[in-house]
Amino acid sequence: MPPAPRVYEHGGGVASVAVTIPDNPLGHTLVHVVDTDRGPVLVDTGWDDPGSWAELCEGLTALGTSVRDVQGVLVTHHHPDHHGLSGRVREASGAWIAMHAADIAVVRRTREAEPGAWRGYLEAKLEGAGAPASHTAPLRAARPGDYPLPRPALPDREIGAGELLDLPGRRLRAVWTPGHTPGHVCLHLEEAHPANLPGRGRLFSGDHLLPGISPHIGLYEDPDDAGPGLGDPLGDYLDSLERVARLGAAEVLPAHQHAFTGAGARVAELLAHHEERLTGLLALLETPLTPWQLAERMEWNRPWARIPYGSRTIAVSEAEAHLRHLVKQGRAEPVPGSAPVTYVACDPS
Ligand SMILES: [Zn+2]
Ligand SMILES: [Zn+2]
Repeated sequence: MPPAPRVYEHGGGVASVAVTIPDNPLGHTLVHVVDTDRGPVLVDTGWDDPGSWAELCEGLTALGTSVRDVQGVLVTHHHPDHHGLSGRVREASGAWIAMHAADIAVVRRTREAEPGAWRGYLEAKLEGAGAPASHTAPLRAARPGDYPLPRPALPDREIGAGELLDLPGRRLRAVWTPGHTPGHVCLHLEEAHPANLPGRGRLFSGDHLLPGISPHIGLYEDPDDAGPGLGDPLGDYLDSLERVARLGAAEVLPAHQHAFTGAGARVAELLAHHEERLTGLLALLETPLTPWQLAERMEWNRPWARIPYGSRTIAVSEAEAHLRHLVKQGRAEPVPGSAPVTYVACDPS
C-alpha cells in the first residue's frame, strides 16, 4: 500500500501537502492550500516528477478537495521545487499561474534559450571567476543535449509588489522579497491567527525565511546581464529579511522544513549570521583572491575537497554574491589589472 499522503491542517482555511523532491536532502516542498470562496488556491506546486505529482493529487483529495478544483497557483519563485508542477496543475484544472515579473522574465529566458547557450554562459562565467581548467573541462566537452533545458510553464498573471491579491473571501498580500531569486515573493495572510497566536497573521515565506537553513544567495543568473555594475542579490536579501520582520507575522509557513513562530528572532539570527560571515570573508581578503579562491577558503557544510562538482559551481556563485555586496558596501575592491579579477579588503582606516 502506498504511504498515506502527508498533509497538515493549520486551521482557518489553510493546509499543506508535503511533496517529495526526489534525491534531494531538503526532502520535500510544502505546498500550501488556501481555501477561497471560489475554491482552493495553491502556494507553490512542487517538483515535476510522477511520484511527486501523485503525492500532490492524493494530498488534495485527503484534504477534501481535488486538483481539478484548484483555482490558481501563486508561485513564490521560479525554482523547480516550487514551480515544477504548476503546468500540470493548470492542465488538470484550468487554474491561473501567478509569479512576480522578475521571475517570469527568468522563466521566459529559460524557455527561449538556445540549446547550449546556458553551457557557454556558465563556462565563461566560471573562467571569469578563476575556476581551474579541470572544473570547466566537462562543460567544454559537453555535446548538445548534455544539458537539456527545462521548459517551465509560462505564468499567465503577474504578482505585483505589495499587491492585495484578488482571492474571494481572503486577505492575502504579496511582499516582494528579492534575494534568493530576483522575483521571490512572500505572501502575507492578513487575517487573525486561527489559534490567536500573538502577531499579525501568517506568512507564506517560500525559501526566503526558513526555520533551520539559510537559502542559497548567488548572483541572479542572467546571460543577458553580464558585466560590472549590476545588482547586489545579497544586499537585496538582507533588505528583504528586514522587510518581512517588520510584518510581525504570528506564524511562518515556509516552503521547506516546518511551520514556526518567532519570525523576528529568526530574521535577527540570519542577519547576525550573514554579518559574521562577511567579516570572516574580509579577513580572508587581506590577500587578493579570485571568487573561486575565496570559495575554496570559505566555510561550507563540509570541507571543499568533499564538495561535489555541481555544488562547487553554486558555491562560487555564492562567493561572488558576497564579493559583490562587500564591493557595494565599500569594504572590498577589485585589484586593478588582475585577470581573472581578484578582490582585496579595503583598508578600514
Ligand atoms: Zn529556491
Ligand atoms: Zn526551495
